[in-house]
Amino acid sequence: MPAPLLGTLRPQIHRFPLGHFEVTTMLDGAIIMDGISPPFGIDQSAATIEAHAKENLLPVGNLENTFSPNLVNTGEQLVLFDTGFGEIGLKLGAGNLQSLLTTAGYKVQDVDIVVLTHAHPDHIGGLFHDGKPTFPNARYVMGQVEFDAWKSGEKIPAQRAQNRDLFLRLVVPLADRMTFIDPGDEVVAGIRAVEAFGHSLGHMAYHIESEGQSLLLWGDVVNHYAFSLQRPHWQVSFDDDKQMAVATRQRILDMVATDRLLVLGHHMPFPAVGYVERLNGTYRWLPASYQLRV
Ligand SMILES: [Zn+2]
Repeated sequence: MPAPLLGTLRPQIHRFPLGHFEVTTMLDGAIIMDGISPPFGIDQSAATIEAHAKENLLPVGNLENTFSPNLVNTGEQLVLFDTGFGEIGLKLGAGNLQSLLTTAGYKVQDVDIVVLTHAHPDHIGGLFHDGKPTFPNARYVMGQVEFDAWKSGEKIPAQRAQNRDLFLRLVVPLADRMTFIDPGDEVVAGIRAVEAFGHSLGHMAYHIESEGQSLLLWGDVVNHYAFSLQRPHWQVSFDDDKQMAVATRQRILDMVATDRLLVLGHHMPFPAVGYVERLNGTYRWLPASYQLRV
């Protein structure tokens, strides 16, 4: 009897050492979106977008958006960066973080600190489960600028109105357990905030270092390895301040390419860890391989 066809199977958990730390990336979900622009290259022509897709051997009619929260175990603290979509993602094919956390060997009770790079739905949606905080023993860390921007709502673009409601529902109730930080501040020893405003008004990246090994967890500085990373000046509809996001993207890409710094990117192809190389006047994503294990 022939073996049955079982459908697509893909890796969803990846763990590697960073000095004395352990870093786990988990695939909260993957969503197929119609079209490339929007969201990417909204200031570019359809012909330019199509040519770029073909050059990268990618389909021209749709794209896959992946969501990869990260867990850093410093040996003393278990630090979760972003929460995935949570319950709001289940019908979209996302919201898998909680079950993956268990498969990876942790319990939700083990998480000591939840760091939010920013307050978009794929990063804050998992803060609550069944009406209660998902990570019952955690305290929270978030950028002061980001929290204040969403709280006041003054400069939040109209397209984020629903997102602001979600912020008021999921983030504000946790404010009394939250530490608000500025660029340059430490979360714990070895984890430091880096200014990356633009994708959201107070979006932050995090520099993580142990025993001389380091990486930049860049959150959503770049949201696609081809359509944004190779064309950092293209405007992206996901970016709340588009010009500031372009400037930040160019500054951070220049930094990680110059320093040859390992990158963790929430929307980079799973396992969402790699390097950025300079090539022909632009950049390329170079997925990490065994260098993290030897
Ligand atoms: Zn995101």
